[in-house]
Amino acid sequence: MYDIIVVGGGHAGCEAALVSARMGMKTLLLTMNIDTIGQMSCNPAIGGLAKGQIVREIDCLGGEMAKIIDKTGIQFRMLNTKKGPSVRSLRAQADRKQYQLAAKDAVESQGNLDIKQAMVEEILVEEATPLAGSRIVGVKVQEQNTSGEKGEKGEKNVFYSTQALIITTGTFLNGLIHVGDVSLPGGRIGELASLGLSDSLKNLGLHMGRLKTGTSPRIDKKTVDFSRLQVQNGDTEPKPFSFSTGKIEREQVPCYITHTTPTTHEIIRDNLDKSPLYGGRIQGTGVRYCPSIEDKIVKFSEKTSHQVFIEPEGYDVDELYLNGLSTSLPEMVQLEMLQTVPGLEEVRILKAGYAIEYDFVFPTQLKPTLETKVVEGLYLAGQINGTSGYEEAAGQGIMAGINAVLKIRGEEAFILKRSEAYIGVLIDDLVTKGTKEPYRMFTSRAEYRLLLRHDNADQRLMEYGYRFGLIPEEQYQGLLRKKVLIAKERDRLEHITAMQGNGRAGTVHLLLSGSRLEEKLGELKEPCSLAQILRHPGITYNDIEEFLHVRDAALPEQELSPEIKEAVEIEIKYEGYIKRQSAHIQDFKYMENWLIPPDFDYDSVVALSRETKEKLSAIRPVSLGQASRISGIRVSDISVLMIYLERLRRVRQDNVAATCQRSFLCQRSFLLVVVC
Ligand code: FAD
Repeated sequence: MYDIIVVGGGHAGCEAALVSARMGMKTLLLTMNIDTIGQMSCNPAIGGLAKGQIVREIDCLGGEMAKIIDKTGIQFRMLNTKKGPSVRSLRAQADRKQYQLAAKDAVESQGNLDIKQAMVEEILVEEATPLAGSRIVGVKVQEQNTSGEKGEKGEKNVFYSTQALIITTGTFLNGLIHVGDVSLPGGRIGELASLGLSDSLKNLGLHMGRLKTGTSPRIDKKTVDFSRLQVQNGDTEPKPFSFSTGKIEREQVPCYITHTTPTTHEIIRDNLDKSPLYGGRIQGTGVRYCPSIEDKIVKFSEKTSHQVFIEPEGYDVDELYLNGLSTSLPEMVQLEMLQTVPGLEEVRILKAGYAIEYDFVFPTQLKPTLETKVVEGLYLAGQINGTSGYEEAAGQGIMAGINAVLKIRGEEAFILKRSEAYIGVLIDDLVTKGTKEPYRMFTSRAEYRLLLRHDNADQRLMEYGYRFGLIPEEQYQGLLRKKVLIAKERDRLEHITAMQGNGRAGTVHLLLSGSRLEEKLGELKEPCSLAQILRHPGITYNDIEEFLHVRDAALPEQELSPEIKEAVEIEIKYEGYIKRQSAHIQDFKYMENWLIPPDFDYDSVVALSRETKEKLSAIRPVSLGQASRISGIRVSDISVLMIYLERLRRVRQDNVAATCQRSFLCQRSFLLVVVC
């Protein structure tokens, strides 16, 4: 008997299994192929806009993704450095094989965690009580070996029992791969599709849909003319993803940029009938924000060129990934179109691009803990919930893992608010609004993105990771010291004043005259604190620091790390905006903390329309805040609900008071009897 079983060794499955085992649960990871644990199905890169924030959030909750990419990255870049802090994000190119092996090593070396190669076919449940519905009891796996080991009850080891089950099967459920007019079952190229499990989910009452995604061809490095490509180097001082990684010391390799040409587009247009998407053979809905090249040519027909990023798949491999050229055209057409792209005239394809269709579960059938509403103890995480992307999958995996553990322990669920984390935004969007197309994260999905920055993920979330025993004491103490240093440095800059002029500086005044800072700043009308100066556009912490060193002013107690300087700069520069967003969060929290009882009967609210009642009954929001985000729910519906909930609260309070009074009177009469 296991406490928790995780099905699938992808990005969601690895995080779920690791966190479960680290929180002391006897855990089993069942996956179709042990050799592909942690495999990157598509492009070999982690992070990017909004996704980089998710990776850091996973790190602060005690997950593994950030540490793995720090160990296996081959090019690190901070994106949007010239834009505001809310949209800055880290992205790294990975050595695909090294990344996969590091992920596998992390799960293999984790205590409390057994791994077994097996395909799960059926979910086993039992009726708990007629009211509570069914509850998870185990899984049945496909029998591969008739002479197989004996299981717990003497039968062949095809059943595994558990208290909680986390399913993270990615694109494998009834996966169907398409290249040109060839379609064959598969979970990813070269891997079997998962058959049976989808029906089992349906039999439990879950409503399922079909999505599609695609990937680009991989080409042979030896056949590329690099002289025709634009070089894109990584950062000279690469920053790590994990707050526990000191420094990235790995060699950085360049990526390259080229463009499609009008001839490329012509070839694609001429062959659209051979594309499974346009030939009508693909039914699933595709990724709107990551379209195939066929889609781009049709939807943006006015464009004569599209950018193509050429990304190495590792240090010592010949494979190059063509980011921006996802396609499912026949391989010969893929080759023909590639050879019209500058630098790729003589190119050879190593692996053709393909599209894949797969089953997913409509995620509004999940609670915010990622537990299904229909079966207690059954959790779903990753692409099975309609998302696309390694980071989105891993973020759900860690949350499902933590919540499964908390549920077994009988502790309060762990739900991240939209104001706390991108992971909170992601899960809230999925379970409240649902999705009908592959969902990927963007900064624009987060209302409070200035607060959900990559640099402050530790200040936002590490406390939770520490509380769950997933962050070591030493790292947590480091966070507390960091918070103190940031506060002290902010205070110091508020209290040192600078002014222009050549006179004598007072004890708190520094003279700017002749300094580089003055040059950048221009004329100052009156003495200003260094914090005020930092708020000027174009002035950075470095400018102030340089000036302080020259002027020999009171320096911080200790040398501050670049992270602390960055945090101080952002907090001072954007103080006004941050305060405004924080004030909004107070209103937001008011609604989020107004909980709706799980058994609330929406049908009893006469003032709600039938449609509204149906929507609310289907989603069963945990709070008024969540109810207000369900599509089609109006402000007036929320006002009606508020009145009902308040009335219900009063009735329940009165009942409790009456019960207390009765029991008090009983006790008094009992005492009187005893005394008499
Ligand atoms: P996966 O990483 O797919 O892992 C699923 C795991 O479940 C595997 O280990 C598998 O062996 C196991 N499994 C499946 N069924 C069973 C079973 N019955 N029993 C036991 N084990 C089982 N993401 C992007 O962000 N951008 C893209 O452009 C993009 N393109 C993609 C193109 C393709 C062709 C594919 C396949 C994926 C693409 N992705 C893309 C998606 C990205 O790879 C996934 O979002 C991510 O890997 C999902 O992680 P996951 O953990 O949910 O599932």
